[in-house]
Amino acid sequence: MKIGIDFDRVLFDTDRFNEYMKKETGLKHVEENVYDERGCYSPEKHAEASGIDVKEVYDAVKDLESFVYDDIDLLEDLESHTLVIVTRGEEKYQKAKIEASGIGDIFEEIYVVQEGSKDVDGLEFLVDDREEEIHRAGIPGLVLNREEHGMKHVVKFAGGKK
Ligand SMILES: [Mg+2]
Repeated sequence: MKIGIDFDRVLFDTDRFNEYMKKETGLKHVEENVYDERGCYSPEKHAEASGIDVKEVYDAVKDLESFVYDDIDLLEDLESHTLVIVTRGEEKYQKAKIEASGIGDIFEEIYVVQEGSKDVDGLEFLVDDREEEIHRAGIPGLVLNREEHGMKHVVKFAGGKK
């Protein structure tokens, strides 16, 4: 089975990372819209509204291993499946975060979706923190709320499937 796993707030503690970015860079809370026309967070827009160069943002996106949830090694139990990351967001920024997280190699492929659904190329199951993404993809899935469950829950749920 080809299983898609969301990155932000499923594999990666994005809320803690966003706080870190505000400390490490001149990014701040702004009133301006920091999303692009597709609804993806735009580091360029956020940097501009914060009065900093976007290079400062990208310079801080490195060595992010500590923001990866420490239970993702449990995914080894799903090794009979094809695991891919399916993340939504601005391609350059998502790829930079994933690369800096150091977990890209665990996955056979990384899909960055910017518009449309997460129903990418033969995907059969989707793990996401947003129910709406699973609904939109129209495939079976599991909503993972990190405040309630961890990867153990995913393994238990998806592991029994072929
Ligand atoms: Mg997410």
